[in-house]
Amino acid sequence: MPSTMPLPNDGCTPAQAVALRSSRTVVTGAAGFLGSHLCERLIAYGSHVVGVDDLSTGRGENLAALDEADAFELLLHDVTLPFHVSGQVDYVFHLASPASPLDYGKQPVRTLVTGSAGTLNALTLAAQKQARIVVASTSEVYGDPLEHPQRESYWGNVNPVGPRSVYDEAKRYAEALTAAFGRTAQVDTAIVRIFNTYGPRMRPYDGRVVPTFIAQALAGQPLTVAGDGSQTRSLCFVDDTVSGLLALATSGEREPVNIGNPHEITVLQLADMIRELTGSASSITHTPLPADDPRRRCPDITRARQALGWTPLVDLSAGLSRTIDAARAATAGPALAGDAR
Ligand code: NAD
Ligand code: UDP
Repeated sequence: MPSTMPLPNDGCTPAQAVALRSSRTVVTGAAGFLGSHLCERLIAYGSHVVGVDDLSTGRGENLAALDEADAFELLLHDVTLPFHVSGQVDYVFHLASPASPLDYGKQPVRTLVTGSAGTLNALTLAAQKQARIVVASTSEVYGDPLEHPQRESYWGNVNPVGPRSVYDEAKRYAEALTAAFGRTAQVDTAIVRIFNTYGPRMRPYDGRVVPTFIAQALAGQPLTVAGDGSQTRSLCFVDDTVSGLLALATSGEREPVNIGNPHEITVLQLADMIRELTGSASSITHTPLPADDPRRRCPDITRARQALGWTPLVDLSAGLSRTIDAARAATAGPALAGDAR
């Protein structure tokens, strides 16, 4: 199966592909939105992948394309408990964590424990295996930023006790733990600060803005714009984010790296774009702005460009169209519900 999967045309450089070929990789959070796309890409490049997931916010169906793949195995496990993977491991991608504000708002303590104990267990595995580990952090470590666009040197503006703190501070702790392992335990560590990523396989009502607006537009329901919609986000298509993760893994970079698309738009502009791309007659309704909702967010990706040679390739309109096609296929029924790429 792996050798017959088509190689993506926007993925690794030849050198990166060589590094991944015949490697063995552990991906925590493998059944999630990002994790499932990452696993597919790794396998396309010839890596053997062990996915670890407790299916708390992920879905087994996200891994349907890998059901028959000899190069993929899934370990159903909660990463807050120590875990062991037998044999050689070259790379660990630690993605396990709730990611949508709705999800982490529902399980605040669990989110903190996943970010802390879960990250400790992933780092311990990497140390045992002498593997390079990429720990998924987030633009949320910058909080409601006072610097714009956000460079990696910015330390952030996070409310440590607000409702978002369970995610933000868990990720900040995860970064501190990763840096400490890198400094003291001779573990080859990397930290990726992922900015808002969207694409096929997000759950329609996971609370994040792109799948929510698409689901509402397709159902003819009003699009729920929080506040006046003037807050901004910079949205990166999933294929680009996965390319960034792979580029970071196969580099020697040890400093945190922003991965995101610097094309910044307001939430209201996004709502209008999705209405237009879906051809929806949905209206817009305004809902209360959640506490501590960042006013502006845009990555400075100079480091990723210079250190990794990475840059996002998919523009917003094309990425949204692919995401809408996949959402339409999923609502049309299971037979059409694959990734509509
Ligand atoms: P997701 O919710 O789709 O995937 C997370 C996966 O982790 C799910 O499959 C879930 O079941 C699993 N998981 C959660 N807690 C676990 C635990 N204790 N043990 C085992 N598995 C567990 O979210 P996503 O969007 O794919 O995000 C993946 C990672 O990327 C997260 O670490 C998130 O913080 C980070 N990230 C994502 C974005 C984004 O825009 N998608 C932005 C910034 C950071
Ligand atoms: N948002 C919105 N309507 C929704 C969901 C989200 O207006 O139905 C807003 C949200 O308040 C935030 C932005 O869209 O300003 C991005 O929200 P998301 O949850 O996708 O990501 P995050 O806030 O973590 O960047």
